[in-house]
Amino acid sequence: MLKLFVILIAMSISIDTLALNCVVCHKKIRGKYLLVNDKAYCSQKCLDSTIPVCAKCGKSLRKGYYKRGDQLYCADCISSTWPKCSGCGKASKSGTVFRSTRDMFFCPECSQLPKCFSCLVPAYKSKQLDDGRTICLECSKTSVHDMDEAEELFNTVRATMEKAFNLDTDHRIRLRMIDLPAMQRRSPGYAHGIELGLFVYDATIKTVITNRLTLGGNKEEKTTYRENVSYTIFFLTETPRKKLIEVFAHELGHDFLQEYYPGIKSLKIKEGFCELCAYLANIEFGQSEMNIRITHNPDPIYGDGFRMMYDLYQQDGLSMVRRFLRQNSN
Ligand SMILES: [Zn+2]
Ligand SMILES: [Zn+2]
Ligand SMILES: [Zn+2]
Ligand SMILES: [Zn+2]
Ligand SMILES: [Zn+2]
Repeated sequence: MLKLFVILIAMSISIDTLALNCVVCHKKIRGKYLLVNDKAYCSQKCLDSTIPVCAKCGKSLRKGYYKRGDQLYCADCISSTWPKCSGCGKASKSGTVFRSTRDMFFCPECSQLPKCFSCLVPAYKSKQLDDGRTICLECSKTSVHDMDEAEELFNTVRATMEKAFNLDTDHRIRLRMIDLPAMQRRSPGYAHGIELGLFVYDATIKTVITNRLTLGGNKEEKTTYRENVSYTIFFLTETPRKKLIEVFAHELGHDFLQEYYPGIKSLKIKEGFCELCAYLANIEFGQSEMNIRITHNPDPIYGDGFRMMYDLYQQDGLSMVRRFLRQNSN
């Protein structure tokens, strides 16, 4: 906001007998002088020396000033103190900070742009994918659309999770690359930006009833077994490589839970554990900047779930986490 000094300038003719002194240079005033707010100045120069100057260009702020913190600026310079928009690059007084791999500031106009499906930040320069998703140019540089590349990356992530954290199963996991509508069809509770992947465990449960004639009479016995067991990880086309590492680690977390702790009902525990897997993978792959999203996620299932799991992990590593999973699997 522009603020003006109250400067009342009155020209007066001095009367020698008043014996006035300039409040700045203290010289005795003779002849014309300036009277401002009841203070006398011998010259314009002395008066100007009392007016603050712009912190940037040094110009006198006689016409008014803008304040930012403790500093005062002229109308031309104030905009140089505003943060620069991460999109259009223009300095903007107001805007929104988006948290991604770092905090990014966007001006009001750029804040309204469609968000990149992967990094969730307004996409100033972007590409529109066939299924309607927006991807920012930065993310699109590494987006994976080749199935061989995806398979190779998946195998690397899986091997790393086993080697570094002993998180592994011997399931034969199928990979399926799908677009957004297909993902939404498969996961009714799909929340945009939260899960870019999906783990599906499928099995036909058969029950066989056998009747046995015993001494006590006819005895019915029920046995159930699983047939056509399959494990599939779906992921979105064009997911950037770093994000895909995170997604695969998360979905492998679900695979691990399916094998060892299938009785866990709490979504918060499940997603929290899988986010912990993603977090650990991000560190292993030297991309811990990806963890800013995970650790700061405000979501009550994913974010709070992660923080609950991370707390256990901090206390006594994965053995503590596994003890907790065991207690909650029934
Ligand atoms: Zn003076
Ligand atoms: Zn200035
Ligand atoms: Zn902008
Ligand atoms: Zn992006
Ligand atoms: Zn999940």
